[in-house]
Formats: sequence, C-alpha cells, structure tokens
Amino acid sequence: MNKDLKIVKEKKKGFSVKVKDKLIGKDFTFISGPCSISSYEKLLSLAKGLKTIGVDILRGGAFKPRTSPYDFQGLGFEGIKNLFKVGKELDLAIVSEVMDTKDIEKVHDYLDIFQVGSRNMHNYSLLKELGKTKKPILLKQGYAATIKEWLLAAEYILKEGNPNVILCQRGTRNFENSLRNSLDIGTTAYIKNMTNLPLIVDPSHAVGKAKLIENVSKACVAAMCDGLMIEVEEDPSTAISDSLQTLNLDQYGRLVKEVKKLKKFLES
Ligand code: PEP
Ligand code: MN
Repeated sequence: MNKDLKIVKEKKKGFSVKVKDKLIGKDFTFISGPCSISSYEKLLSLAKGLKTIGVDILRGGAFKPRTSPYDFQGLGFEGIKNLFKVGKELDLAIVSEVMDTKDIEKVHDYLDIFQVGSRNMHNYSLLKELGKTKKPILLKQGYAATIKEWLLAAEYILKEGNPNVILCQRGTRNFENSLRNSLDIGTTAYIKNMTNLPLIVDPSHAVGKAKLIENVSKACVAAMCDGLMIEVEEDPSTAISDSLQTLNLDQYGRLVKEVKKLKKFLES
C-alpha cells in the first residue's frame, strides 16, 4: 500500500462519519432518490414513499455531470433548494453532487453530505476545497481509477483537515461492455479489509440495469459494505436520466427488506 496514504491508514477500526443520527461505518445506511431532481412536487412525493420504506438519506442530482453537453444538465442550485426543502419537511439528511469549486460555499449550508462524482474524483482543486470544509464527503471511485488513486483522492480531502470521508464504489470501466460498468466484489472486500473508511456501494451506476440491482446489492452486503446508494423513482420510465437502472418503490422496498434479512443472517 502506498506510503502517501498517511491519514487513510491512521483511521482506527470503528471509525464512522456522523450524518444526523446515523453513524456511517457503524450503522448500515440506505441512501436513495432520483438520479436527477426534476421538481419539488415529484421529489416530495417520492421521498415520502422512501421514508416509509426506511431510507436514511435522500439523494438527488442537481448539478449533473452528463457525457453529452446536449443532455439535461440538472436544475442546478434550484434543485439543491428543492432537495433541502424536502429533506427538512421529512426530517431526512440529504446528499448531492457538487462539481465546481465555485459552488461549494453556495450549497454548503443546504447539504448534509457533498458528493464527489466519478468524473471528478481526479479534480484535485475540488478535493482540496472540500477538504477545507468539515462536511461529510461521499467520494466516488473514478470510473477508470485504481484503488490506490481513489484512496489518494481521499487522502487529498483528509490532508486538508476534513476527517469525514465516505468512500463510494460505483464500478469501473474495462473491456467488458455488457453492463454499464464492472463492479468488483473483490474491491469491496479489499477496501473493508485494508481501510477503516466507511464504504457505500452504488450498484445502480455499476450495473445499469434495474432487474440486477437487488442481487448485486446482496453480494455487496455479503462483502461487508456499510451501505447502499440506489436510484429510485415512483415511475422510473419518466426519470430524466438513468431510467433503465432506476427502481420503483415496490422494487426498492423489497430490496431493503431482503438486505435487512441478509444483514441479520450475517450477524447471527
Ligand atoms: C450520481 O450518483 O449521480 C452519478 C452521476 O454517479 P457517478 O458519478 O458514479 O457516475
Ligand atoms: Mn444516475
């Protein structure tokens, strides 16, 4: 392991990141919501359903890193405000991606967790600025980054003085193209074995197909991840982005039940 992973290696067993009343790393954490926020009303209605199922943290993209510049780019700050309002109304913590250093201060007091997206894992200016805050950071693995590069990105944040890093595995790109990305369970187990940073898995962006997400989630739970981030909408066919990998509330409710059952079994 790289000698420059100084602070990553200093993290002690049992380290967790506090978000509202949740200790991520200790308490298994369910994060879910739409890929992109489309409106306040739609988000509120969805979030009510998610809360009934037992979601801990509501996700929603507002600044969207799209591959094509012609695709929907997200509602921007308007979306962050919608997410904040819904989170407040339902007493749910919220997470959203920030792509640009100039937006950090503006959205700082609205979000409970800043997300660094896969495409920005190598954006060192962004990592350094987020490291100067004390907010929890959900740091996604770059889609073509090695584990070492990903952990060094975490080190960038930690080195600036922010101890609250949560890793998020979302699959990487390789020669295989049947699925959106390749989710390596070995990586899940390895990260949990060699670091004490909390690890959330995002099976949605990893496999890209709604019907595979429940089983893949269970595999990640068996590999000892600390939580799951999953894209959900009331009607996935109307999702503005990533509709093919988005679950409906029934599918998500079943997944949560199954994962809880599996956790109990693994702990018994
Ligand atoms: C997301 O979670 O909204 C997202 C864009 O994912 P990724 O950065 O992993 O592609
Ligand atoms: Mn998405």
